[in-house]
Parts: sequence; structure tokens; C-alpha cells
Amino acid sequence: MLTSIKPLQLIAAAVQDGVGSPAVLLPPGASPHHYALRPSDVRRVRDVALLYWIGPDLESFLPRVLAGRSQPSVAVQDLPGMHLRHFGDSHAEDDDHDQAHDEHGQEVADEHEHDQAHRPGALDAHLWLLPANARVIATRMAADLSGADPANAARYQANLAAFGARLEALDQRLQARLGGLAGKPYFVFHEAYDYFEAAYGLQHAGVFSVASEVQPGARHVAAMRTRLQQAGPACVFSEPPLRPRLAETLTAGLPVTLAELDTMGGALAVDGNGYETLLDNLANGLVECLGAL
Ligand SMILES: [Zn+2]
Repeated sequence: MLTSIKPLQLIAAAVQDGVGSPAVLLPPGASPHHYALRPSDVRRVRDVALLYWIGPDLESFLPRVLAGRSQPSVAVQDLPGMHLRHFGDSHAEDDDHDQAHDEHGQEVADEHEHDQAHRPGALDAHLWLLPANARVIATRMAADLSGADPANAARYQANLAAFGARLEALDQRLQARLGGLAGKPYFVFHEAYDYFEAAYGLQHAGVFSVASEVQPGARHVAAMRTRLQQAGPACVFSEPPLRPRLAETLTAGLPVTLAELDTMGGALAVDGNGYETLLDNLANGLVECLGAL
């Protein structure tokens, strides 16, 4: 089995625990938003029996290569039961959009600075950060693996049941740990956390969109600093492996703590518990920084 990104590999590892090891296409630290396939990647994609990816809103580099495959590929965003969000969706279901915009409409970025993958109204492809979605993905993987390898079908199903129970415990653990952080101000450089935030009552105060600009303009930087000044003590989260150089400029002299949140799990071991570790680590990063404000 080949998965496009590490989080899918971690989910697959829970299903294949004790039977096999799923492979992953993107190397650690590579962004799925800006990846260019190497010739060896193209061969792997064409030859593997089972392939899982998020979908064209995330791995926009994949569709043209998938066209050359004779075996099935699963875009998990299309699976029945998947909870999907779009950028700009309100976090609370009973909250209407205008209200949410008034409360949280502090995004510094203007329309031009949203890259295609994160533009308002687009599908939010960071869907793996919701335990319920991991379960939907694992269920499909267990069914496919059981069909391809019937001798181990009972093991895949038992692994799926155990993973489901661990996801339930994870969800309760995250609710308990993150419940007290609602309203604490933080800013991010990448709008990747909405599924997680909506599930656990968090809301970023703003997104510093710098992805599409090598050097953001002075006016843009000044606007971002103004937002930070207004927020008072706050956390600013970047994603490993890169901390934008801008982060230091933006926060100099302000009561702001720079920290990291890792949505991709680049440094995690690939084992049956890796997915839970990915989400527990996100919670750790939030609790450590926001809990100290
Ligand atoms: Zn993203």
C-alpha cells in the first residue's frame, strides 16, 4: 500500500499493525501543497496496488499521474461519512456566517494572499485532523486490505476495532485537555487547523498568509503587527520544519510566544499509535503555549 502523506500512512499503519508496513510518497518536511513528483515517485504511483490520497484540493500534483494507473486509487475526501469543511465555514454549527465573521473576521490576509488551496469557499483538505475522519479512512483501508489479502482479514478488522476504540479515547482526552483554552488568542501561518479547532472549541485569531509571497510588502507586515499588538499576550504557531523568517520580525518586542504545531507528523515513528501521537502532539503544543498565557 502507498499513501500520499504521512498522516494517511499513520492511519494505514494502525490498520496493518502486525501484518504489513504502508509506504508514503512525500518525504518528511515536504508540503503537499507545493510538491513536485520525481520520476521515481511517478513509477511508485503507477505500480502500487493500493493507493490512498486526500484529493485534488491537497495533492494537486497527483491527478495527472493517477491517470496512468490501471489499479484503483482512493481519494479519501470522497468517502461516504467523511466530515468535510470549506474555508470560511463557521466553527459553531448554530453560528451563522456573518456573526462568525464579526467575531473572528480578523484575518490579515486579503484575497490576493490566499493561495489557491486555502481560498475562501474552497474545500478544506486538512481533513485528517479530525478523529472521526481517521475512522472513516481506516474503515475503507481495512475493507480494501481484507479483500486483497483475505488470509489476514480477521487481523485487519481486529486492528480497525482497536483503532476505533483508541480514537474514541483520543477524542475524549482532547476534549478534556483543550476545553479550557477557548478564547486564548493565537495566530497561525497556515490555515490547516480548522477541523481540529472546530472539534475542540478553539479558534485562531488570525492567519498570517505568507505562502504566496517571498517577501510580503511593508504594509502587509505592518498590518500583521497591528493585529498582534491588539491581541496582547498571544501565541504564534509556525509549522516544522520551517519557521518563516518573518515570524521574528513580526513578533519582536511584543508579548508573543513563538511555538510550533505539526500537522504532518514528519518526525513521528510509523507505528500503530502514530496517528494518536500526531493529535496528542498538536494538543501538547497548544496547551504548553496557550496554557502559559
Ligand atoms: Zn494547507
